[in-house]
Amino acid sequence: MNVLIFGSGQLARMMYLAGCPLGVYISAVDVNKEQVVNPVSKARRTISIKQAIEDADAITVEFEHVPEHLLQLAHQSGKLKPGIEAILAGADRVREKRLLEKLNIPNCPHQIIQDIEQIAPAMNQLGDQLILKASRDGYDGYGQWRLTNRADLVKLEDDLSQLDLTSVPLIAEKMLKFDRELSLVGTRSQDGSYVFYPLVENRHHQGQLHLTIAPATNISDALTQQAQDAFKKLGDELGYVGVLAVEFFQIGDKLLVNEIAPRVHNSGHWSMQGADTCQFENHIRAVCDLPIGQTDNYKITGMINIIGLGQFSSTMLAIPGSHLHWYGKEPRAKRKLGHFNLTAETYQQLGKRLSSLTEYLPEEDFPLLVPAAKELQIF
Ligand code: ATP
Ligand code: MG
Repeated sequence: MNVLIFGSGQLARMMYLAGCPLGVYISAVDVNKEQVVNPVSKARRTISIKQAIEDADAITVEFEHVPEHLLQLAHQSGKLKPGIEAILAGADRVREKRLLEKLNIPNCPHQIIQDIEQIAPAMNQLGDQLILKASRDGYDGYGQWRLTNRADLVKLEDDLSQLDLTSVPLIAEKMLKFDRELSLVGTRSQDGSYVFYPLVENRHHQGQLHLTIAPATNISDALTQQAQDAFKKLGDELGYVGVLAVEFFQIGDKLLVNEIAPRVHNSGHWSMQGADTCQFENHIRAVCDLPIGQTDNYKITGMINIIGLGQFSSTMLAIPGSHLHWYGKEPRAKRKLGHFNLTAETYQQLGKRLSSLTEYLPEEDFPLLVPAAKELQIF
């Protein structure tokens, strides 16, 4: 089988690696250069995008911000999974919020801003502390502005004055005081059946995911049910095929959807070691219409993103249960360069192993490790 992925970064790379043992051959489209490449070596393949589309049995994406003309080409082939509607909902926060509202899925109180003058009234409605998010092309906290008091409004209006808010509106969201962030990654098959990974906890620093704890601690059946219900409503509405990730804010025993990602997701990377079948393999299985692999016999796993750090030693591989996934990218500030997965039998053991990891890694680049290690050891 041949699968073509739009986008040629680390997610395409990990899907390629997961596809190999299945005998699924994967090519990727570098959407900036508009070239077909091998997603591991990045070597250019001497075929056109149109030819690669023709050759593919299934087409998918590694991220939602695929340029419109390329996405249309993929859509017109009739092979795109998930479908264009799901990808556009993930790419455009206005569409995403409309979808959540239509399906009555609880989400963050928000207003759509199409003119700078609408920010002050939004503050009256939502409160003085807001997060403004560009409706398109945002990821890893980019394209976001935080407003923590009214006095900063004038400066913010000035910063935003260059933006064309009529064509790319902002979403003003109430800044929530949530207990923690969770996400649900799962797969919907072509026959409409679902397979879920457990809910995981995601810890962010400066708007970027740094650490995932899988499964999240203290999850009631009711919470899992809420998350799966929201997921299924979205999956059924979109006729979804493949892996989908839904990010939540937990407030008490309620979940509010933050956003959806119509693809494999950073908060599912733990599954490469922690689950019987990882998210990358399950996505490939789903788009190729193969049976989905088991996800319920998992190990307790910590996933630690390596962000912006140019140099480190691989000696931490001596820690039992540790695995390194290095993406082979040029180091740059705030860039995700790789991740560690640390598996364990218990949360206490995971805490100890995270604590060992801190001995190898600078605290300034991995600020959430020490607190998580302490917390899990006393859990
Ligand atoms: P990513 O690509 O990493 O998922 P993103 O750029 O798409 O990020 P969001 O997920 O919307 O952006 O926001 C990034 C992080 O900022 C969230 O995970 C959360 O920690 C924080 N955040 C976002 N919205 C809110 C909110 N309304 N209230 C409080 N914190 C928020
Ligand atoms: Mg997010």
